[in-house]
Amino acid sequence: MNDLVFQQCINPDCRQTYEVSQTTFLCQRCGSLLDIQYDWDRLTVPKSLSHFELKWQARRNPLDFSGVWRFRALFPFAPDDKIITVGEGQTLCLPSDSVAQFTGMNSGTVYLQYEGLNPSGSFKDNGMTAAFTHAHMIGASRAACASTGNTSASLALYCAVTKKMSGIVFIGSGKIAHGKLAQALDHGVLTLQILGDFDDAIARVQQVSRDLGIYLVNSINPFRLEGQKSIMYRVLESLAWVPPDWILVPGGNLGNCSAFAKAFHELYTLGLIPRIPRLAVINAAGANTFFQLVEVQKLSWNQGRYDQQKITSYYAHLDQTQLRAHTLASAIEINRPVNLPKALRALEICQGVVRAVDDTAILDAKAQVAAGGFGCEPASAASVAGLKLLREQGVIAPSDRVVCILTAHPLKDPSATIHYHLGDTDHYGRYANRPQTVANDLSEIIRTIQQK
Ligand SMILES: *Cc1c(COP(=O)(O)O)cnc(C)c1O
Ligand SMILES: [Zn+2]
Repeated sequence: MNDLVFQQCINPDCRQTYEVSQTTFLCQRCGSLLDIQYDWDRLTVPKSLSHFELKWQARRNPLDFSGVWRFRALFPFAPDDKIITVGEGQTLCLPSDSVAQFTGMNSGTVYLQYEGLNPSGSFKDNGMTAAFTHAHMIGASRAACASTGNTSASLALYCAVTKKMSGIVFIGSGKIAHGKLAQALDHGVLTLQILGDFDDAIARVQQVSRDLGIYLVNSINPFRLEGQKSIMYRVLESLAWVPPDWILVPGGNLGNCSAFAKAFHELYTLGLIPRIPRLAVINAAGANTFFQLVEVQKLSWNQGRYDQQKITSYYAHLDQTQLRAHTLASAIEINRPVNLPKALRALEICQGVVRAVDDTAILDAKAQVAAGGFGCEPASAASVAGLKLLREQGVIAPSDRVVCILTAHPLKDPSATIHYHLGDTDHYGRYANRPQTVANDLSEIIRTIQQK
């Protein structure tokens, strides 16, 4: 195939290519995941990353305003007139000395990338704008996803704002945080609560999409990951294009970590960065398939010839013991991550590590993020809890420059926060800030304030 852009099977023994317009998203020959590939030699790529700063001068053009599409030279799969943007990607990467102190890092070394500042309140918008654009390119009129909540909120928002598509979301019953469910309902998409969990819902949505020809926007969709690469471009931009030592990211379906590694691999190959940061993927202890396979069973990418048997028998073990994912960090409550092979490849590209942190560590880290900054939802704070753990283990040095990806907004899951501060959860609220009950009486109110 001599197209400038194509889809390609990630299996090195297959490497089958597909046209951009294909929407199967799995190799029809071997069943592996697909990548979007570019013939960089025949495309115009900027000679230096600082080129992208020029886009700020053109920000009246919505494509140059978008924090995703202003980098479109690094994922040029769509003609400009087909791109659908709602102005996503206006996010911030800020240093946090209070998180540095909490995690045992030197002052000035820790940065937080606040992806909760996206229009729907999570990083998913980076990928949704790309998937939506692809869907629009090929003329789709309906899009569907299974979601722990944020993908459905993002899909719902893009449907409502752009009017380009009608949306259908599949959610596991009872597991979705209220902020996210509220978004799906409010934006008016068809919301199906499957009597099962996320792993059940994603299996169903793939069947239904295939049978009814509905465009699938889960992160199995390789176009979504192209948009999510831009999170790393913005991190680099915030750090004046000097790569940090570490990127820490929560791992659920493992799309984000896969996208980040692809971004760095491409930038490095194109000569646009001098070295690739290391990657730490952080699971919740109650949904730790990736940790188990990589760190306990030593599963590795092995240049694409990874040991599928280890994965198959791990999933069989999940079935036999009826082990279901269980964590308060609902966004990463996933036991069968669809991007597992790509994430293995990501670890190889970035010399990555995987860790698992328990819910108490996650909620304490979340409280510390909010006490010193903008805040985040529980799953996001896994990155900070992971930093603390990796510092304690001596894997990350106190002087390393690190970026924790805060994947979503604190108001996504207010009940987790309230229960933590009221102290009525199983998890002791070490940093709990309890409301004080005071009689409706002036002198008692004054006394209470002065006691503090
Ligand atoms: C989707 C999501 C994740 C998990 O990202 P993956 O790419 O699926 O690993 C983590 N945090 C939040 C808040 C999310 O919405
Ligand atoms: Zn294949």
